[in-house]
Amino acid sequence: MLTVHDLTVAFGPTTAVRDLTLHAGTGTVTGILGANGAGKTTTLLGIHHRVPRRTGRITLDDQDVTAYDTTALVRAGIALCPENRRLFPNLTIEDNLLLGAYGQGRVTCRRRLERIYGRFPWLHGRRDEAAGRLSGGQQQTVAIARALMSEPRLILLDEPSSGLSPVAVDEVGQVLHDIAAEGTTMLLVEQNVRLVETLCTTAYVLAHGRITAHGPVAELLGTDTVSDAYLGTA
Ligand code: ATP
Repeated sequence: MLTVHDLTVAFGPTTAVRDLTLHAGTGTVTGILGANGAGKTTTLLGIHHRVPRRTGRITLDDQDVTAYDTTALVRAGIALCPENRRLFPNLTIEDNLLLGAYGQGRVTCRRRLERIYGRFPWLHGRRDEAAGRLSGGQQQTVAIARALMSEPRLILLDEPSSGLSPVAVDEVGQVLHDIAAEGTTMLLVEQNVRLVETLCTTAYVLAHGRITAHGPVAELLGTDTVSDAYLGTA
């Protein structure tokens, strides 16, 4: 499904991601683990072409999408659910959702909204409320639903559990589990080990912009590479 080959992203003198190669198979949930500043967010932003890449080739199934801009990547089936949710707190829930289908016609937007409301009936009931009034977990669900509005084949998720209570993490985990069960492929940046254990089959460990380990989650978790990566001592 997604292959990233030799991705390098630099911000001036700082090389945030260096020669990164990874693969996410169709229908799988692949984790990206690592300490603060390891380059996880930059990896997702680099794949989604939201930051300039120095090098790198991206393929989606057999399609070379390297030259695609973000809008074209969304059309090709890749959605990003960004760090800190990035909702517009003063806009209504429905308007936030509609941003995920930006550029689509009225009929398509309506059809996709109905699908989202079918999946999350409580969102329908609160669709005219400002998104900023929702709890953190509910806002994360809106952010995921906004990503679903582009009807993606692959979702790039950046720390969906960030800042949430344990109960909210479980709720968001269930939402992601259901989406994965329908066959949507996911690349999940996450610091919450339990969420990674529950959702991911395989994972990559990043330290200082490079992949330091890769394998089945059950084998990776508990290894020194992972604890070093989390503690930032790698
Ligand atoms: P966190 O868990 O804290 O979000 P991360 O693993 O996602 O960390 P990145 O946000 O990708 O890490 O950052 C990787 C490196 O790139 C860090 O050294 C960071 O300071 C640097 N960096 C990220 N974005 C920029 C930017 N826009 N300009 C300059 N440096 C940046």
